[in-house]
Amino acid sequence: MRRKLVVANWKMHGNLRWNRTLLEGIVSGVRDLYHVEIAICVPHPYLFQAQQLLHGSNIAWGGQNVHPNEQGAFTGAVSAWMVADFGCKYAIIGHSERRGQFRETNETAARSIKVAIKAGLIPIYCMGETLEEYEAGVTEAVIASQLNGMLDTVGIRLLSHVVLAYEPTWAIGSGRTATPQQAQSVHAFIRGRVAHHDLKVAEGIRILYGGSVKASNAAQLFAMPDIDGGLIGSSSLDIDEFVAICRAANRK
Ligand code: PEP
Repeated sequence: MRRKLVVANWKMHGNLRWNRTLLEGIVSGVRDLYHVEIAICVPHPYLFQAQQLLHGSNIAWGGQNVHPNEQGAFTGAVSAWMVADFGCKYAIIGHSERRGQFRETNETAARSIKVAIKAGLIPIYCMGETLEEYEAGVTEAVIASQLNGMLDTVGIRLLSHVVLAYEPTWAIGSGRTATPQQAQSVHAFIRGRVAHHDLKVAEGIRILYGGSVKASNAAQLFAMPDIDGGLIGSSSLDIDEFVAICRAANRK
């Protein structure tokens, strides 16, 4: 039985004052939820604040990326060990915004996954097709190449330490969500591909859906058999929305 996981991705939003209000509001809103796992991935400068405010709560915290190298002359970059130093449990890797804006590839993401695991973090590896790819009907081919491109470097043995996320880029921040059936079909495809390598890993691995998840559509998405929770962007910046999404995932 896979435990549902809801992960907030704050992206480049926040400041010390606003973060405190949001974190305290979420902590008190989800205090009674025990069936769902919750994490908040904040911008790196606020990891210390997240650690201070979330420590002892039922919410984990994480970073939004880690560099593929362990250390070195990489100005402005943050290593997996630095993120782990602040008690993080998770790190998002290969988000479509990193792929699109910072030219990250399956290969760099795979290397980041390896160092993240070595540093004791659970990587959340994002995959997803563009609108053009979706309309051309090549979603499965794109996902297969993102999954295989990562697996070539990471290997199936380490995959049991990874969370996967399906995030169609046409649904991210667009207000346009994949229907539960569309998302389920891609999630089942991903699990099937993993099963080709290892059935046990496929059964245990959590696959999150991301792309305009809101309080109003979360329950239908989470009811799908291969959707194990959500990666939440915009709706994680609103206490009531995010708490409602966590509640939807908390149902057994
Ligand atoms: C994301 O960027 O990971 C995401 C899912 O964003 P949104 O929920 O805003 O679509």
